[in-house]
Amino acid sequence: MPSIFTHQWDTSVYKGSTSINTGLFINGEFVDGVKNTTIDVVNPANGKLITKISEATEADIDIAVEAAHKAFETTWGLNCSGSKRGDMLYKLAQLMEKNIDDLSAIEALDNGKTFLWAKSVDLTLSISTIKHYAGWADKNFGQVIETDEKKLTYSRHEPIGVVGQIIPWNFPLLMLAWKIGPALATGNCIVLKPSEFTPLSALRMCALIQEAGFPPGVVNIVTGYGSTTGQAISSHMKIDKVAFTGSTLVGRKVMEAAAKSNLKNVTLELGGKSPVVIFDDADLEQSVNWTAHGLFWNHGQACCAGTRIFVQEGIYDKFLQKFTDKIKEIKLGDPFGLGIDQGPQVSQIQYDRIMSYIESGRAEGATVHVGGERHGNEGYFIQPTIFTDTTPDMKIVKEEIFGPVGAVIKFKDGKEVIKQANDSNYGLAAAVFSQDINKAIETAHAFKAGTAWVNCANTIDAGVPFGGYKQSGIGRELGEYALHNYTNVKAVHVNLNWKM
Ligand code: NAD
Repeated sequence: MPSIFTHQWDTSVYKGSTSINTGLFINGEFVDGVKNTTIDVVNPANGKLITKISEATEADIDIAVEAAHKAFETTWGLNCSGSKRGDMLYKLAQLMEKNIDDLSAIEALDNGKTFLWAKSVDLTLSISTIKHYAGWADKNFGQVIETDEKKLTYSRHEPIGVVGQIIPWNFPLLMLAWKIGPALATGNCIVLKPSEFTPLSALRMCALIQEAGFPPGVVNIVTGYGSTTGQAISSHMKIDKVAFTGSTLVGRKVMEAAAKSNLKNVTLELGGKSPVVIFDDADLEQSVNWTAHGLFWNHGQACCAGTRIFVQEGIYDKFLQKFTDKIKEIKLGDPFGLGIDQGPQVSQIQYDRIMSYIESGRAEGATVHVGGERHGNEGYFIQPTIFTDTTPDMKIVKEEIFGPVGAVIKFKDGKEVIKQANDSNYGLAAAVFSQDINKAIETAHAFKAGTAWVNCANTIDAGVPFGGYKQSGIGRELGEYALHNYTNVKAVHVNLNWKM
């Protein structure tokens, strides 16, 4: 029998306790993995072990896939009406609301984001996403397509079947909500693997999924490592689709495994290196505030983080001064501390990776204008960091760092800056700041990116599509667009009075 992890908080922002089953959630119950091996879960604020969870291996994925297929053929898929699926999703959202403090605290413990941010952003957005898809569940209509009088012709949007979902550690619950919401609304069964770095909120969600009344096998959560468990999902012959969020490097591997196995349908949400363009006529204070949010939100661990900050020469000095002042106000510390803005990075691996990027920036001749050092003596804290004097070929300007590190770059000409902004293999998001609405919209349209923010940054809504151009991904999450990721379109031709 898998064990139960319990934890109690008595902190300035939260007092409460949680209880999480650390097994694999397969066919509606918690079980041990076939090989009975475990994974260590570490607290990023102090580097200490939180608990151990079960590790799923290939054999466990086979069992989960069988359970998912059985559910699809009996209780889910075309055997459950859209309105019933919607009811269950809505119930799940209500249970998340009821347990919002518990889920936020787990997220803060496991990921290192602050409790208050987890509650006001991650949980709020996760709940609104599940509610959004509860609303879609009975509205996934096909169309009647007029051909001629002899035929009735229509399309149906049918579930794909059993879908594999692989998610990252930066927004553990939110990424889970983005994945399960549209997949369940459209009638698919799920085998989902959370990140090995942040599995606890997904495991806590399993109890809520049970309570919401989803039949056994509809949602299976399998914790494990990427190169084994993740690979077993993307290469599985009986998984009909894989939806992946993570790095571009691993996205390529997922697509390759999908192609080499059963050519399963693939959607990918990958990395980014988003530009921010601030024109001379921007509202200085607002552009400073939004740019800081755009870069440092979630400790810079956001795929859409605005890391290349292009500032026009007339405003450059003033912007840099105010931006520096703003950055110096960011308070680092315990995710459960009062008034804390930034917690630790998620893991030792990420900490080392980010610090090596900072070193490479220095070595390549850029100037650390602010930050650039470790914060504190334990845990994985890194000061918010800004480079100046960069050139376009530097690693810190080209590659995704996925930490609180950005570059402020001076530009002269509005046309030239668009070329620089678009000079990236990525195309996830971009932002522009100007009080000239024509210039701002013209720039937004010129960005080669899936999201363009005008006079704001990093705002996301459950109903608005999100996804990338170029090597930032394939497909769109959120809103009605995500339903297409999880449906097969069938055309039906009915002969009315057509004689051969
Ligand atoms: P990652 O690519 O290392 O891992 C993502 C997931 O894939 C994890 O669950 C991991 O275990 C699994 N995985 C690793 N190797 C695998 C393999 N060979 N086969 C199958 N699965 C495998 O990414 P990460 O470090 O967890 O997250 C950070 C990355 O995610 C960043 O690049 C970020 O930009 C991206 N991201 C993108 C979006 C988006 O919507 N575009 C959102 C969040 C994060």
